[in-house]
Amino acid sequence: MRTPIIAGNWKMNNTISQSLQLVEEIKSYDLNERVEVVLCVPFTNLQEVKKSIEGTSIKLGAQNMHWEESGAYTGEISPLMLKELGVTYVIIGHSERRQYFNETDETVNKKIKAALNHELKPIVCVGETLEEREANIEKDIVRKQVLKAFDDIEGKEIKDIVIAYEPIWAIGTGKTASSEDANDMIGFIRKIIGEKYGEEEKNIIRIQYGGSVKPSSIKELMEKSEIDGALVGGASLKAEDFHKLINY
Ligand code: PGA
Repeated sequence: MRTPIIAGNWKMNNTISQSLQLVEEIKSYDLNERVEVVLCVPFTNLQEVKKSIEGTSIKLGAQNMHWEESGAYTGEISPLMLKELGVTYVIIGHSERRQYFNETDETVNKKIKAALNHELKPIVCVGETLEEREANIEKDIVRKQVLKAFDDIEGKEIKDIVIAYEPIWAIGTGKTASSEDANDMIGFIRKIIGEKYGEEEKNIIRIQYGGSVKPSSIKELMEKSEIDGALVGGASLKAEDFHKLINY
C-alpha cells in the first residue's frame, strides 16, 4: 500500500515570523499519522521551520533547487545546501518555474538526478495547459513530460520520487479537475511508469493531484484509486484548511 502524501506549497508567501505563526497553528491541531505531511516553504524560512517542526512527523520541503553542488550561479540554491538544512522533499519543475523561469524538461531531469544523488526526494510536477486540454493532446503532453523527466533514472529510485499531476488551468484558479479526470490522468501516468520500469515500480510510485485542492474537494480526490495525495497551494496557507486537508 502506498502511504498518502499531502504537501503544502507555500510558494512565495510568508516571512519567517509569519511562517512560525502558521506552523504553530498547524501544530495545535492533531496530525493525521496515516498521511505523510510535508511543508514546502521558501528557502529563507527552511531553517526556522525545521526547528519548529522538530519532534512532529511533519517533513520539510523546498520549492526548487539548482542541479550543481556549488559554483558561479548567482541567486541559486544547491542540493548540498538543502540537505544540510534538513530538507527531505524538493518540488521540481513546478509549472510556475517552467512558465516564468524557463525551466525545461531537460533542467527538470537534471534536477531530479541531483536531488536523488543527495538523498533529497523530488516531487516532480507535470501537467497540461488549458489550450492543450481543449486540443485533446493533454495525454501526449504529460507523457512527454514524464518520459523526459525520468530519462536515465533507474527503477530503484522510484520509491523516492513523487509525481504531482497539476493541470495548469487548475492552479490558483479555483477550478479543480474533476476527481474522475484527475484519477484518469494519474492512472495514465502510472501506466507510463509501469511500461518504462515494470509492475513493481508502477505500484510503488506515489502520484499526487494538485490544482485548487480545497477542504471541500479533498475527500473525493483521495477516495480515487490512483490518487495518492495532493500538492496544495492556496489552501495550505491557512492552518484550519490545511488541518482539514490532511484529515480528509
Ligand atoms: P493551488 O496551487 O492549490 O493554489 O491551485 C497548487 C500548486 O501550484 O501546487
